[in-house]
Amino acid sequence: MRWLEGFLFGDARFPESEEYAAFQFRLLCIVMLSGALVTALLLLGVASGSNPIDSRHVVSMEVFTTSSALLWFALRGKPRRFMPMAWCYEILCLAEYGSALYFVSEDEMRVIWFFTNIPGVYILLGQRAGAVVTLLSVTGLALGNSSLPRPYSPNAMATLLAAMLYIGAFFHVYGARSLSYFVRLQGSNRQLRHLAMHDPLTGLLNARAYYEGCDQMIHLASRNRTPYSVMFVDLDHFKQINDRCGHEAGDLVLKAVANRLRSTVRQSDLVGRVGGEEFSVFLPHTDLTGALNLAEAIRADIEALGVDTPHGRLQVTASIGVARNQHSEQSMADIQRLADQAMYDAKKNGRNRVSQVEPSSPIREG
Ligand code: GH3
Ligand code: MG
Ligand code: MG
Repeated sequence: MRWLEGFLFGDARFPESEEYAAFQFRLLCIVMLSGALVTALLLLGVASGSNPIDSRHVVSMEVFTTSSALLWFALRGKPRRFMPMAWCYEILCLAEYGSALYFVSEDEMRVIWFFTNIPGVYILLGQRAGAVVTLLSVTGLALGNSSLPRPYSPNAMATLLAAMLYIGAFFHVYGARSLSYFVRLQGSNRQLRHLAMHDPLTGLLNARAYYEGCDQMIHLASRNRTPYSVMFVDLDHFKQINDRCGHEAGDLVLKAVANRLRSTVRQSDLVGRVGGEEFSVFLPHTDLTGALNLAEAIRADIEALGVDTPHGRLQVTASIGVARNQHSEQSMADIQRLADQAMYDAKKNGRNRVSQVEPSSPIREG
C-alpha cells in the first residue's frame, strides 16, 4: 500500500520521536480529502436532481469541496504547513456548517456537525483551540438560534449545548491526559529499546543486538551477492591494566577504545561489544583487502591512543582477527569463529598485530 500512502500524504517524513505529529498530519490529510469527496458526491446528487438543496448552500458546498481539495494538495508532503492548513480547514468547516444550519432548514440534524467538529479540533489543533472552538460553537448557536429560519426548540437547544459542553470538557481533560501519557510512554519505550540493545559502559551495541544486526546484513549481502568481512578486536593483557590501576581505569580504557572504533568505521558498519574487552566489527561491502587495511589502521590507532586516568596516561594494544565470507550462505557464527581463530593467531604471534584467517576453501566473490 506504499502507493496509497504516497498519494495521500506525499513524501512527508517524521523522526521516530514525532509519532504523534505524524499521526496528526496523516489524519488531517485524510479528513480533508474525504471531506472534499463526500461533499463532491452530495453535489453530484444536487446536479442529478436527487438531492434538492437551497442554491445558496450549493455555492458553499462548491467552495468547501474545492478548497478542501486544494488545502489537501498544498499540505501533502509538507508537514511544516500543518498548523496553518489545519486552521484554514477548521474555518472552512465552521463556515460550511453555518451555511447548512441557515440555508438547509429542512435537515433537522444538520446542527450535529458542530458537535462532531469538537473532537477533531482537540486532536488536530490541541487543547486551547479545542476550548475556543467549543465555546464559540456554544455561544454562536445559543445566540443565533432565534434568527434561524426554523429555530430549534429551547429544549432541543439546551440538550445540544449541554452535550457540546460535555464533549468539549471530556476531550479537554481526557485528551490532554492521554496525550501526555502517550508521549511519556513513547519516551520510556525509546529508552528501554536503547537499554536493551546497547552496552551501558561504551554505548556500543551489545552482543545480542550486534549479532541480530549482523544476521540482517548477511541476509542482505547474500541476496545482493556482495562480500562482507568481520573484524574481531581483543585488547592485549587487559587484565593487567585492571590489576595495576583498578577497574575504573580499565573502564576508561574500554570507553576510549570503543569511541575510537565508533569514529573510525563507516556509518554503515556495525560495532558491538561482544565480550569484556572484546569488540566485533561487521563490514558490509568489504573484501578481505579492505578489511585488513581498516584493521591495521585501527590497530595503529589503538596503539597510539593515550587514555588519561587517575593513574596517569595508559596505553593499550589490540590483537585483531579478520575474516571474510567464504560463500554466500555462511552464517554469522561461522564467520565470527573464523575471525576468532585469526585473533588467536595474532595473540600467538606476539599480540599487537592483525591476522587473517587462511581460507579453507577458495574464496568466491558473492
Ligand atoms: P590477552 O592479551 O590474552 O587477551 O589477555 P587479557 O588480559 O586481555 O585477557 P583475559 O581474558 O585474561 O582478561 C580479560 C580481562 O578483561 C579480565 C576482566 O577483568 C577484564 N574485563 C572484562 N570486562 C570488563 C569491564 O567491563 N571493565 C573492566 N575494567 N575490565 C573488564
Ligand atoms: Mg578476551
Ligand atoms: Mg584480551
